[in-house]
Amino acid sequence: MERNRRGACRLLLKDFHPVPQLVTESHMLIEPSFPVIDAHNHLSMRGYSFGKMKRTKPMIDWDHNLLLSVMDAARIEKIVDLTPFYGEKLKAVLDFHRPHSDRIVVFGTVDFERIDSPKFPSEVRKAIVQGFKHGMRGLKIFKELGLHYRDKQGKLVMPNDRRLKPVWDACAELKIPVLIHVADPVAFFQPLDNTNERFEELCAHPEWHFYGKDLPTFHELIQAGEELIAENPQTAFIMAHVGWYAENLQWVSGVLDKYTNAYIDISARIAELGRQPYTARKFFERYQDRIVFGADVLPNVEFYRIYYRFLETEDEYFPYAPTPWENSQGRWRIYGLGLDKVVLRKVYRDNILNLIDFNW
Ligand SMILES: [Zn+2]
Repeated sequence: MERNRRGACRLLLKDFHPVPQLVTESHMLIEPSFPVIDAHNHLSMRGYSFGKMKRTKPMIDWDHNLLLSVMDAARIEKIVDLTPFYGEKLKAVLDFHRPHSDRIVVFGTVDFERIDSPKFPSEVRKAIVQGFKHGMRGLKIFKELGLHYRDKQGKLVMPNDRRLKPVWDACAELKIPVLIHVADPVAFFQPLDNTNERFEELCAHPEWHFYGKDLPTFHELIQAGEELIAENPQTAFIMAHVGWYAENLQWVSGVLDKYTNAYIDISARIAELGRQPYTARKFFERYQDRIVFGADVLPNVEFYRIYYRFLETEDEYFPYAPTPWENSQGRWRIYGLGLDKVVLRKVYRDNILNLIDFNW
């Protein structure tokens, strides 16, 4: 420990690990109240990093027995594998999981790099229908739409781009949902200085920092996402990560109020929800038919148990992730929501069962 000239302590942020001395009731849940469906997971992405979709390979060497035993231990009945694949790669993943189709469902995506082709509308429709025939039960749209893909003119392709209409129409026709991630945490679009609440996370992942580049702002992105939902009322959209804006449940509520085809998942955002427990609990009660469970972390019993503790107990000020992830999204802790059983059942399973056909 160093001291400066005035005698004050100096400590590097990375070395600061305070241990709370708070003593409150603690309920570590081993199991959730109902069997859970994890609607946001990525089992099959090998070598993915932001913007490198083409390089990503299907990971089809899982030990299914091990995977299913982890799911059983956490009472995860089914899991949705959101993949960045179409065509042959998608088929490989589907064939790999097919013997376990009672537990695993697969989503695919589309080739946005073909958007300039005059054949895009017919080709993309065909690819989606083909994927569906092989067993794909939904489409996953990654944040690269709006932040990465550019057309021939060099313009970013935004979520509300009219040229994408055939994609959403095909999903409506096949009655499969689109799980879409637009933008990222607000702090990723702000300067990386001593006021950025995700400073350490961005230091660890500089590729997630979207500020000061030739990119739309956070608000331009979510506005385009809202327009997409508004313009395609026949298509069901599951807005990933608490409607893209977990920091502002008022905004998310506005979208859910306006568009009955909008749903949200809670993946990777209990850190956000759990630091606004009063607002979050009201949000869950009001939108109990529109919220689905998801983790966005490879099946991990410890992780799932934190979600259950967050949703089911009124425990206070506990870590939103196991160590070593404990502070990964920001230096704060969370508070449980203590949701009642009716709401829990819908969020854990009933809502997603209404959105996805799990028979394939
Ligand atoms: Zn994800």
